[in-house]
Amino acid sequence: MCHALLRDASFWQFLHRIDQDTAARAHAAGCRACGGVLHRADYPRKPRGVAHAVLEERDRRRLSFCCEREGCLR
Ligand SMILES: [Zn+2]
Repeated sequence: MCHALLRDASFWQFLHRIDQDTAARAHAAGCRACGGVLHRADYPRKPRGVAHAVLEERDRRRLSFCCEREGCLR
C-alpha cells in the first residue's frame, strides 16, 4: 500500500464511511446464527504502519456487534 495514501485523511474518511455502511447493514440484518438483535460493542483498532496523529478518534475504533441472545454471543 502506498505510504502517502496512509497519511491522507480523506482516505481514512472514505474507509470510515464504508465501515459505517457495512455496520448499518449488518446491524439491520441481525445475528447470522440465530436472527437475534445485535448490540454494538466497538473495540480499539490497532492500525499498523500509520502515524497515530493521522487518524481521528472515530478511525481508531473497530465496529463490532454481539448477539443479545444468551448462549449465542456471536
Ligand atoms: Zn445470535
